[in-house]
Amino acid sequence: MMSIGLGELLVCTVILLMPILAVVGIVLLVRGTKQKTDFGLNLSLPTGCPKCGAPLPTIRAPKNARQLLWGGWTCTSCGVELDKWGRERDRTS
Ligand SMILES: [Zn+2]
Repeated sequence: MMSIGLGELLVCTVILLMPILAVVGIVLLVRGTKQKTDFGLNLSLPTGCPKCGAPLPTIRAPKNARQLLWGGWTCTSCGVELDKWGRERDRTS
């Protein structure tokens, strides 16, 4: 009689789920890049602040957890928060 342990079951589940997670990740990335959401990849850096036109630093120094996670800038000139696409972030969200 064949028996399977909980650990084996867990490993099997993870191995089976990996390609699904990878596909979901790629779909999110591609869709995010097209629709410019937080999941997207921005390969062309925004040139300046949309509000005051000040140039943005190439090397990002995250000012908060959201910037660390999703990227983005805080304009050194006017203090506006920008997302990775160089758009002004809604402060309420
Ligand atoms: Zn600015």
